[in-house]
Amino acid sequence: MKNGKLLDVLIIGAGPIGINCALEAKKKNLSYLIIEKGPLVNSLYNYPSNMQFFSTSENLELDRIPFISKEAKPSKQEALEYYRRIATSNELNIKLFEKVESVEKVKNFKVTTDKLVYHSKNIIVATGFYDLPNKMNVKGEELKKVTHYYDDPHLYAFQNVAVIGASNSAVDAALEIYRKGGNVTMIIRGNSIGERVKYWVKPDIENRIKEGSIKAYFESEVKEILEDKIVINHDGKIIKIANDFVVALTGYRPNFRFLTSMGIDLVGEKQIPSYDEQSMETNIKGIFLAGVICGGEETHKWFIENSRVHASKIINTLLTKYKTQF
Ligand code: FAD
Repeated sequence: MKNGKLLDVLIIGAGPIGINCALEAKKKNLSYLIIEKGPLVNSLYNYPSNMQFFSTSENLELDRIPFISKEAKPSKQEALEYYRRIATSNELNIKLFEKVESVEKVKNFKVTTDKLVYHSKNIIVATGFYDLPNKMNVKGEELKKVTHYYDDPHLYAFQNVAVIGASNSAVDAALEIYRKGGNVTMIIRGNSIGERVKYWVKPDIENRIKEGSIKAYFESEVKEILEDKIVINHDGKIIKIANDFVVALTGYRPNFRFLTSMGIDLVGEKQIPSYDEQSMETNIKGIFLAGVICGGEETHKWFIENSRVHASKIINTLLTKYKTQF
């Protein structure tokens, strides 16, 4: 690595966008390292087993490296294969299963993980938002039968399953569990299925609810979860429903504490991290943001398709604004 142990750029997070930043840094001959707390593309690895991306494979490509999939929209397995092959064939410098715990500005940046200390001239934060589920904060949420990450429907056959939420993930889970023999009840805060639910899926869920194959309580919220029941408030009335499993798909949020610990400002009600849209640099000089972390609580705003561009913006900034560093 150039400059001994001092890196040009340290990237936190090996999601698709962190990987894209590494590709760009490598192309421009900068010394870089990605540090990832889980396996490669940890968020994708934890997506539901049978999920299919809403984007076509072409729109998920990094650095124009062709992404070939059987159907136009790839599966989770195909995406894992694609991003893994990019990382292995480009021999990217990645440390996996190592969590970044703090970033301090000394002369450069001192990055402390749960294993080692690193020094870098610049930092890219590409930590996504999938680690921290929005909790319901109700009694019983810690029970083993409650999950915030839906994986596979087989577990739920012949079971009474409450699916909490009405977004894409909740709707996909409800339909899949119903079709594999689960008895599904959706608990929905609003009065309709989420407006951002995929247009080709929305009629399916609405018709299953209308015909009663999937039960839905609108304008409802969970009050308590018991071993064999779930207690909800439906339009002011307390209802107890027989329950074996709770799949709470109430969204996720970025680790705001991690951002503020680095000195990054959060702006407004949606806690949007402060950054410049051209350079992607935050209010802390030398710390950049990439990927879905940019959206704060607006987690639907950025996704792989539209945040791939962050990598070249950052690396170009490094090469122009900070060219004397290299
Ligand atoms: P992530 O992929 O979340 O990567 C962040 C990484 O940072 C993680 O691997 C995490 O483990 C790591 N990390 C976090 N904190 C630390 C730390 N302290 N130290 C070290 N590592 C850390 N997008 C699309 O464009 N098209 C789609 O069709 C699509 N379908 C989706 C379907 C589902 C079910 C979901 C949930 C999302 C979908 N998305 C889609 C969104 C897309 O997956 C995300 O936008 C994408 O993962 C964002 O990439 P990222 O690199 O910004 O963040």
